[in-house]
Amino acid sequence: MAFLDQHFLLDNQAAIDLYEKHAAQQPIFDYHCHLPPRDIAANRRFTNLFEIWLEGDHYKWRAMRANGESERFCTGDATPYEKFLAWARTVPYTLRNPLYHWTHLELQRYFGINELLNEDSAPRIWAQANEFMESNSLDVQSIVKQFKVHTIGTTDDPTDTLDHHKQIAAGDLTTRVVPTFRPDAALRVHLLEDFNRWIEKLGLAVDSKIDSLKDLLNALRQRQQDFHAVGCRMSDHGLDITYSEPCTETQAAAIFTAARAGIAATPEDHTRFASFVLFFLGQLYSESGWAMQIHLGALRNANSRAKAIHGPDTGFDAMGSTLQTHALATFLDNLEQQNTLPKTIIYNNNPIENYSFATLVGSFSAQGIPGKVQFGSGWWFLDQKEGIEWQLNALSNVGLLSRFVGMVTDSRSFMSYPRHEYFRRVLCNLIGSEIERGLIPNDDALVGRMVQDICFTNAHRFAAIPS
Ligand SMILES: [Zn+2]
Repeated sequence: MAFLDQHFLLDNQAAIDLYEKHAAQQPIFDYHCHLPPRDIAANRRFTNLFEIWLEGDHYKWRAMRANGESERFCTGDATPYEKFLAWARTVPYTLRNPLYHWTHLELQRYFGINELLNEDSAPRIWAQANEFMESNSLDVQSIVKQFKVHTIGTTDDPTDTLDHHKQIAAGDLTTRVVPTFRPDAALRVHLLEDFNRWIEKLGLAVDSKIDSLKDLLNALRQRQQDFHAVGCRMSDHGLDITYSEPCTETQAAAIFTAARAGIAATPEDHTRFASFVLFFLGQLYSESGWAMQIHLGALRNANSRAKAIHGPDTGFDAMGSTLQTHALATFLDNLEQQNTLPKTIIYNNNPIENYSFATLVGSFSAQGIPGKVQFGSGWWFLDQKEGIEWQLNALSNVGLLSRFVGMVTDSRSFMSYPRHEYFRRVLCNLIGSEIERGLIPNDDALVGRMVQDICFTNAHRFAAIPS
């Protein structure tokens, strides 16, 4: 079989039929990503391969560093072309890493380039891709149209402007673009300088001083409503651990006041305060019919020397080993006890907990809302064939795969839409191979509908974003 041909990842005829008939044509509902709303509003036009492909991609930086490339070519002052050449030198060494597949899939799908990327082909591929961008006016709008992107959920801090989103909605882009409310900074009362700077910014966003915990909660509520008004129906939380310690309003208020007076919270007080604010937010989402996304289990900035030099989130993270299920169960249960558990998606970054998470979500089913609490798609280090299959298998065995809300790019790059194709091929291959073995009926209406639902319909229905 040829590398990356039309049957890529599809090992049998049933998988090929499922993919071609039911998956390939589905629109993309990308409800979680990190694309800059500013670029979408401005309909940014890309002029070279570096801008569209390498800028800010810490997955690629990690591989380049692991291959011995100098930091100059990752986050340093090398020219865009030099950085591209360093990436091209690295690609042959990424065999069996998903980067090898993604790289060539992206070159094929965006520029029709079938050549393998390496040091020899790099100058040709650079010229060919750049020429393609020039002659086809490759911009954001043409990309989302080409990939049939129905909806984009960006990731936005409560202090972020919503002007770009308003501008996009007023324009003629048919793709629906909505913000996602990500108030992680509101929990970080232990990082004094960052926290106080953020509180000041939040005060500006709501045009009011924030002097007490009550002011903070009111400001969060106000921003949540502002987000709601522009179509936001989801929040997102990146949590190292689930915060579910008991904390009264009086305790939280004292911790907040101390932080504002220059006394950083102790680890215990941070956990208590974060638990209080997270619980408040969960209730807020429930009131508004929002869905709450929780990304759990990363060990961020593991290399503190690298963090000091390059800053956070630059590719020095790992899979955490903190077991989360108990704390997560307590958090969900506390909300459920008050009848205020919102729709929820839990993303896992450590496969050890795949089965625990998959069973936990099933403990919070709600009558009348299919798949109310979801086990989200394989995330970050698990966003590859094996990780995707593990997530699909765990969910199938102890829950309802048919109600799964499917894949997200979770990407900062406009060149990541083939991740949905990748996921769909893995999904169809898994199901197709069981059809071939007689484990799933060869019933096109039954199985085809499930594939369509997982690729698009379930997410569309779950997110309930107003058109
Ligand atoms: Zn994300």
